[in-house]
Amino acid sequence: MTTVAFIGLGNMGLPMSKNLLGADMSVRGFDLSADALDGLRGAGGEGFTSVGEAVRGADVVITMLPSGAIVKGVYESEDGVLANAKEGALLIDSSTIDVETARAVAEAAGQKGFEMVDAPVSGGVGGAAAGTLAFMVGGSDTAFERAKPVLEPMAGKIVHCGQSGNGQAAKVCNNMLLAISMIGVSEAFNLGRALGLDDQVFFDVASNASGQCWSLTSYCPVPGPVPTSPANNDYKPGFATALMLKDLKLAMQAVASVSANTPMGAKAAEIYTEMDDNGHGGVDFSGVLKHLTGAL
Ligand code: NAD
Repeated sequence: MTTVAFIGLGNMGLPMSKNLLGADMSVRGFDLSADALDGLRGAGGEGFTSVGEAVRGADVVITMLPSGAIVKGVYESEDGVLANAKEGALLIDSSTIDVETARAVAEAAGQKGFEMVDAPVSGGVGGAAAGTLAFMVGGSDTAFERAKPVLEPMAGKIVHCGQSGNGQAAKVCNNMLLAISMIGVSEAFNLGRALGLDDQVFFDVASNASGQCWSLTSYCPVPGPVPTSPANNDYKPGFATALMLKDLKLAMQAVASVSANTPMGAKAAEIYTEMDDNGHGGVDFSGVLKHLTGAL
C-alpha cells in the first residue's frame, strides 16, 4: 500500500486526500489547523502535529499550500520535508506558486537526492471533491511516471508540461489567457447591450462564430445562455476574483522574470486588482462584466 504524506488540508487538500484514501492509499496529514486535521481523521487518515512526523515513513509527499514562501518553508526548514522524508520518497507540490520558487525547491530536493514534480491543478474545489482535477506537471520523465499513479485518483487529466517549473508556467499562462478572454467576452456583451443587441442573440451568433471561447460557451458572464454559469447564481463563485488575482500576480511575476511583452495580461491584472480593491474579491471572476459598467 502506498503511504502518502499530505501537507496542507484546506479547501483543496482535504478533498484531494479523501480521494487518495478512497483509492486504498494511506494518508499521513499535517496542517496548522486542528479542524483540518480532524477532517482527515474523520475520513480515515492519520493526523500529525508536525511536517517532520507526517513525512517520516511516507513513500510520497504531497503539498497543497497557499504560497511560494510557505512551500519553501515547509520543504527547507529543520522540521521540513527535505530533512525528514525517507530516502527515495517522491515529492509533489500541487500548490499554485511562482515558477522561480518551484524550480528552486525542486533544485534543493534534487541536491538531497529526491525526485520532485510541480503539479498545480485547475478545476477548483468541485474538481478536488469529484477527483476530476487537471494536473499540469513539471519534472523529469521518470519523476512524472512515478507521480502519475499517485495523482490519478484525484485527476480527470494529467499533462506532462516538461522540465521542473513548467507545470506552474502552464498554469499561469492558462489563467492569464482566461482572465483576458473573460474580460473580452464581457466587453462584447456590454457593448452589444448598449447597442440594443439581445444577450441570447449575441450568444447564438458568437458561440457559432470566431468569437467562440470557453469564457463564452462554458462560463458565460451574462445570465441565461449557459444555465450552469455563476452569472445565473448572482455571481457566487465558482472561481473567486481574489483567486484569479493571485494567479494573475504570479503571471506578472513570471512576465517580469523573462521580460515578456504581455500588455493584455497586464491590463487584466489591473482590472481584477480594481475589482478586488473595491471589495469584490469574493465575487466570481465573471462578475467583471458588471465591474466594467460600474454596476458592481
Ligand atoms: P486554503 O487556504 O483553503 O488551504 C491551505 C491550507 O494550508 C490551510 O488549511 C492552512 O492551514 C494550511 N497551511 C498554511 N500554512 C501551512 C504550513 N506552514 N504548514 C501546514 N499547513 C499550512 O487554500 P486552498 O483553496 O486549498 O488552496 C491551496 C492551493 O491550491 C493554493 O496554492 C491555491 O492557489 C491552489 N488552488 C486553489 C483552487 C481553489 O479553487 N481553491 C483552485 C486551484 C488551485
